[in-house]
Amino acid sequence: MFITFEGIDGSGKSTQIKNLVQKLRQTGAEVQTFRDPGGPEVSERVRDLLLSPDFEIDPVTELLLFSSARSQLVAECVLPNLEQGSVVILDRFYDSTTAYQGYGRKSVSLNEIQKLNNIASHGRKPDITIYMKLSLAEAKERLPEKKDRMEQAGDSFFGKVIEGFNKLAEAEDRFFTVDATEPAERVHKEIWKHVQAHL
Ligand code: ATP
Ligand code: C5P
Repeated sequence: MFITFEGIDGSGKSTQIKNLVQKLRQTGAEVQTFRDPGGPEVSERVRDLLLSPDFEIDPVTELLLFSSARSQLVAECVLPNLEQGSVVILDRFYDSTTAYQGYGRKSVSLNEIQKLNNIASHGRKPDITIYMKLSLAEAKERLPEKKDRMEQAGDSFFGKVIEGFNKLAEAEDRFFTVDATEPAERVHKEIWKHVQAHL
């Protein structure tokens, strides 16, 4: 089973992934988790480039770098682990590209982004996508001061990103939207109920 977590920074993805992994392992499942961008060394190096405040990166180049990091992650980590029967959980996947590089940056058309997402994911769609829905104001209260290159963008950018996630979640059946303002333990229970029903 292939599960992805999506949502803006600070929405609680890492917290919920940790809780879900623990619960799944208690059932005896093999579970592997990775972050996108990241995972294999090639993708981690691309991540460093993308997040470094030392570079100004053209929006199309940014889109291609996120996609290239993802392609390597899928080829080297996601597909082999799924084939071996592991549950694979990703902290972000191509829906983040649709939301950030598509709705946020408007680097290329959404149609082109969809095609690129399909290429970068080697055609493998997530079985379940958990969307941690949170407003920008609430996310800001949770976030530390230190900002990577992407987090330096203004409120209007993040407003468009949230709009993108909301539209995706409404359009696609694989999405499960949770109210990320709820206490973490309650959010975990909701996610676990949903995942359990799909095991
Ligand atoms: P990023 O994308 O920036 O890594 P994230 O979506 O993975 O963020 P977390 O790192 O899990 O989010 O959480 C961000 C902060 O919010 C942490 O300080 C965490 O303890 C806190 N937090 C997580 N879940 C909740 C919750 N349900 N209610 C209040 N605070 C929360
Ligand atoms: O969630 P994570 O910390 O791994 O994301 C790293 C940074 O890259 C964050 O600032 C996130 O908003 C940004 N990002 C992005 N486009 C993506 C994925 C992440 O701008 N497709």
